[in-house]
Amino acid sequence: MAGRGCRQAEGLKEDMTKMNRSMDLAWCCIAAFLCAMLSGCGNTPGAATVPKNAPASGLWQVVATTGMVADLVRQVGEGRVKVESLMGEGVDPHLYKPTVRDVKLLESADLVFYNGLMLEGRMQDVLQRLQASGRPVFAVTDGIPRDRLIAPEGFAGHYDPHVWMDVGMWSLCVDYVAECLERVDPQARDVYRANAARYKAELEELDEYVRRVIGSIPEPHRVLVTAHDAFHYFSRAYQIPVRAPQGISTETEPGVKDINDLVQFLVDRRIRAIFVETSVPEANVRAVLEGAARLGWRVQVGGALFSDAMGPPGTYEGTYIGMLDHNATVIARALGGQAPPRGMKGRLSVGESGKAGGR
Ligand SMILES: [Zn+2]
Repeated sequence: MAGRGCRQAEGLKEDMTKMNRSMDLAWCCIAAFLCAMLSGCGNTPGAATVPKNAPASGLWQVVATTGMVADLVRQVGEGRVKVESLMGEGVDPHLYKPTVRDVKLLESADLVFYNGLMLEGRMQDVLQRLQASGRPVFAVTDGIPRDRLIAPEGFAGHYDPHVWMDVGMWSLCVDYVAECLERVDPQARDVYRANAARYKAELEELDEYVRRVIGSIPEPHRVLVTAHDAFHYFSRAYQIPVRAPQGISTETEPGVKDINDLVQFLVDRRIRAIFVETSVPEANVRAVLEGAARLGWRVQVGGALFSDAMGPPGTYEGTYIGMLDHNATVIARALGGQAPPRGMKGRLSVGESGKAGGR
């Protein structure tokens, strides 16, 4: 864990390189300037940005972008950090623009954690500015070796950012967050390492549960059809093919041909359920249901899945573990697999029908 070093500048530089391809010339010049600044302090990564003293309150003030990242840092930093998340329930991180309040929060934080891999596409300039000003800013996905990431066709060379969908991959981020916190707050090293070990054991249990219930779906029906393309890592880890009538980002819309192809696929494979997600519109899903009905095949909505945001704060589904438990349980039950109605820990707010409660 200690040997890899905390590469806080690398994710941003990589993201910036990718952004340069699609941005206008003026922005490229600004990005190049910032990149040069980041490179300047890149000889000893992070050294210039580590606060010298512990915060007066006794807790490090952390700001995280998504709920998943916030939960991760809360778990690893338990007892040492106070974490605030910018994006709440049902928020789409692909489209999220920071508010004036967000910028103030970020500027007053001791540390900032974000997902990276361009998930927070419209927050890049704010994050880069903070980084350049000397704040510790970390992308949790920098903890994942690049050869484990997926760069699907049609994503213009970008990595798929939805890594939390594979519990094993998210577990790699646990180690990385512990490493980053340890770098900023070395005297609490043992706390971070113990927290990380405890949380990784919980994630291992979750990973086994998801694998078991998804594996219990009869093979011909083991296909996940969702409203947007957030499940590539889930698909690879748990061996369930995915079909989605929409691309990597909610910024792209499916065409009529995409919808028709999907309808034909459902009818041919006699697949009974498709899924909606909490952070994207349901219009595309409705189009598919109506298309299948016209061909005489009844497809149901299997339930709402959490893709890019967790459930309400304070609920089980408002945690990373609850989010994945919910998704796996709902998918397995709707497609004919075996899973307890209330999930791995009996804590899900799911009815006997296997559909998501209230969403
Ligand atoms: Zn997404």
